[in-house]
Amino acid sequence: MEKIPFNKPHMTGKELYYIAQAHFNGMLAGDGPFTQKCHQWLQQHTGAARALLTHSCTAALEMAALLLDIQPGDEIIMPSYTFVSTANAFVLRDGVPVFVDIRADTLNMDEKLIEAAITEKTRAIVPVHYAGVACEMDSIMAIARKHGLAVVEDAAQGVMAGYKGRTLGSIGDLGAYSFHETKNVISGEGGALLIRDGELVQRAEIIREKGTDRSRFFRGEVDKYTWQEPGSSYLPGELIAAFLWAQLEEGAAITAARLQLWQTYHALLAPLEEQGLLRRPIIPEGCRHNAHMYYVLLPPTCDRDACIAAMKRENIYPVFHYVPLHDSPAGRRLARVSGELTVTEELAPRLLRLPLWIGLNTVLQGHICRALQGAMVKSMR
Ligand SMILES: *Cc1c(COP(=O)(O)O)cnc(C)c1O
Repeated sequence: MEKIPFNKPHMTGKELYYIAQAHFNGMLAGDGPFTQKCHQWLQQHTGAARALLTHSCTAALEMAALLLDIQPGDEIIMPSYTFVSTANAFVLRDGVPVFVDIRADTLNMDEKLIEAAITEKTRAIVPVHYAGVACEMDSIMAIARKHGLAVVEDAAQGVMAGYKGRTLGSIGDLGAYSFHETKNVISGEGGALLIRDGELVQRAEIIREKGTDRSRFFRGEVDKYTWQEPGSSYLPGELIAAFLWAQLEEGAAITAARLQLWQTYHALLAPLEEQGLLRRPIIPEGCRHNAHMYYVLLPPTCDRDACIAAMKRENIYPVFHYVPLHDSPAGRRLARVSGELTVTEELAPRLLRLPLWIGLNTVLQGHICRALQGAMVKSMR
């Protein structure tokens, strides 16, 4: 059997055509015609007041920390079960991540634990929509309003996913998307910051343009641009935006194709769940996910490393996911924990992600599921 990698970036076919157009236009810096197209698409599809392309989701999260004016010692509530950038963006401003446990069903931050983590120093809540499945945003927004906190959605995995009729990334004050090649809609490296309401837009544009009002200058709103506040360079060049435009145009088709693959796994693995061999993902009512990921939770008696090794011997490459941040060298030094992280600690070592990319088919997925079952049986402790 041919090698089945964990991920294969999907190309829509128009990427090089649009890159050639950008080349022909002779405009290669940021915020050219392709960037504008991407901004408009993102605004139309999310309802955000403003979308701004960035060179990564990491950059969008860093912009969020600057926009919220995070000061040394400010606390930011987030799950420990997330990617490092969620925490790093705030730590770079000397903020302190405060980790709360996750829900056993979605592996998202447990909204019921947030209030207990709030102190006088709390400034923001950062829900992470794991696998493109929404956090319980109604509760999170209500808690934030009650305590006067900002909400920054880490929607890196949530492009084109929804919650009760709204689009992920546009529910909190700020939202961050990723277009990294491992995500659904891609540009190699890439991301976007979504700004829900108008007030923060002007400062966001300044922070993204080296702390200057260059964006207003380009629109003819001021006659020269100057240094306005601390900022950096967060915008991607036009070649990246041209690539991304080819992907965004096909965003609906990409999501539909992935959802079909996701459903196939879900059906194929139902019998294993019935036998109590593994647990499949759970999608709560009101969540419209985007099939970013198909994972299974192995039983506690299964040795995950052995299981991965056994599948690799069949030329199939599943992968594990986050080492919880509170359990990392930097996390222990730079963050603190609120309450017990029992679910995080129990489930993180049991999670296995299966290959999911456009080009897989039912035959290959059947092969993967059979290999998984065989590997699990061999890996029981
Ligand atoms: C991928 C990811 C990021 C980082 O995205 P980049 O675009 O690579 O910076 C941040 N948070 C989460 C939850 C992610 O999955």
